[in-house]
Amino acid sequence: MSKYFTFFFALVVLVYVFLLYCFRIADSGNSINQTYRSFFLRSPISRIAFFLDRPGDARFELFSPGDSLSVEIDYQTGREPDPRVGEWMERIAAQTLHKKVRITLAKEGGIPNNSAFSDRELRKLARDTRDRELAKNRAYVHIIYISKSRDFPSNTGLVLTDKDLFIFSDGIDELTDSRNARSLIEESTIAHEFGHLLGLEHASSDDCVMSERVEVYQQGKLQFESLPTEFCEESLRELEVIRRESIAH
Ligand SMILES: [Zn+2]
Repeated sequence: MSKYFTFFFALVVLVYVFLLYCFRIADSGNSINQTYRSFFLRSPISRIAFFLDRPGDARFELFSPGDSLSVEIDYQTGREPDPRVGEWMERIAAQTLHKKVRITLAKEGGIPNNSAFSDRELRKLARDTRDRELAKNRAYVHIIYISKSRDFPSNTGLVLTDKDLFIFSDGIDELTDSRNARSLIEESTIAHEFGHLLGLEHASSDDCVMSERVEVYQQGKLQFESLPTEFCEESLRELEVIRRESIAH
């Protein structure tokens, strides 16, 4: 009997290691990841067991029933958000999740005053500054305003994990002296990065807030007056598919 048990146990371990490899280590284009990842995203236990915390991995939780999205905002000293960030998040959450938002703005401080942060430092920062009580909400996102990315210095925003979103204030400041243009870049970057947390890919049209040009800036290619802040049809259709998938659960 114990022989069978040992065999069964070894088989389970083998399957676990194989899946872990496909989900975490191998290129995300592999067929096992493509086919089965969304199935494993449906359970909080398998999300933890397989360390499924990439951008988009919390999409079913963000779309879960309930009429509100909890938004925590933390910021580094001197990098406070635009006063209209609450309005923006209301519009973005209404358009994408059909939810209202509850904003919690943390006091500044508690974040080291580095002029740039590596991806590793950003991940740690996201963990350290997260409000544990708020983070218990299934529909929860964490926005962190910070100086700049060391690994992606041309980015105005970045997502590395499932529920954290970084806005690079100094990176935006370097692009413009105009307050209006600054606000526009901040608003479009938030919408873009939030879209990634919902599982959206980059859109092909330049007029879509999910266009890659919204988060990565190259000098000499700035056209702020035409910067999109709205999700286009292509992204909204993609969202509808994700919404239906989350309801089908
Ligand atoms: Zn992007």
